[in-house]
Amino acid sequence: MDSLQTCVYVLLWIDMKSGVIAVIGRPNVGKSTLLNKLIGEKLTIVSPKPQTTWQRLHGILTTQDAQFIFIDTPGLETERSSKFISALRKITLSAMNDADLLLHIVEPFLTDKEQYIEEELKRIDERPKIVLINKIDLKKDKRSLLPIIERYAAIAMYNDIIPVSAITGEGIDILLTQLKKYLPNDGMLYDKDTITDKYEKELAAEIVREKLFYFTREEIPYSSACVVDKFDETQRERIIRIYVTIYVEKSSQKGILIGAGGSMLKKIGTSARMDMEKLLGAKVYLELYVKIKKNWKNDRHFLREIGLEK
Ligand code: GDP
Ligand code: MG
Repeated sequence: MDSLQTCVYVLLWIDMKSGVIAVIGRPNVGKSTLLNKLIGEKLTIVSPKPQTTWQRLHGILTTQDAQFIFIDTPGLETERSSKFISALRKITLSAMNDADLLLHIVEPFLTDKEQYIEEELKRIDERPKIVLINKIDLKKDKRSLLPIIERYAAIAMYNDIIPVSAITGEGIDILLTQLKKYLPNDGMLYDKDTITDKYEKELAAEIVREKLFYFTREEIPYSSACVVDKFDETQRERIIRIYVTIYVEKSSQKGILIGAGGSMLKKIGTSARMDMEKLLGAKVYLELYVKIKKNWKNDRHFLREIGLEK
């Protein structure tokens, strides 16, 4: 490489804006949908039911002059009924503290349900904060957005208020332009082809969890934890062998999950395996087990094992 070329590379590197953006919001405001729209890969779990994303997940978007590292947070619920909920809360608070920029997503309605998040955001000072009013496709008359914008402006905490629709893509360009403004000039932090730094093993567990939401009713996914017991890629060119245990709380749930003659588990397994093959770019052999673990949501040891507590 000659010195001129080196010089050009260095300049490009210096010009690169990049940083970590924590995506914060109540369940169902569209955090995962937005990340999927931005990154263009289905990496996080989207579901009409609240609180499906447990772990922080880095989705990385690299453009010509910026790298956006997004963290999808599981939630800031104040209810502390279980160790599970307070573990989720801890994950979110630590993501907020590590971020360069805080992106608060809300719905296009006037509500006081955002107050607890606003309180947490106020505590993190000297960090740029943007409020994103999502789902504006639901508003036929865009003038009805004005009182909502005014409400957030009145808080005098946000550097920007941006209306978007994660579904139609309206406002997404403006969002990226504005986000870039507030990112530090840190150079590229990840290779440009990286879209996530999550381990393939964690993604495999997430895919199974997503299928639970897709194929079973409310009670099952919220009572289940998916753990990858073994991820064997020693013969990767030929096949990757993945063994996942789904823990449930009661035997009735185990019954539903397995289904008549194993039909439900088979459906979940087939669909998960197909997604895994796409994601991993390899043939996958997937084995699913269902086990009962009473009260796992309050079992500190177990929560640590599945990566929810340190
Ligand atoms: P999260 O819990 O914040 O991650 O929310 P999700 O991304 O899972 O979305 C919750 C629900 O809102 C899903 O049914 C989405 O399809 C829906 N949703 C998300 N973004 C939009 C949007 O821009 N417009 C509309 N109409 N619905 C949306
Ligand atoms: Mg989500």
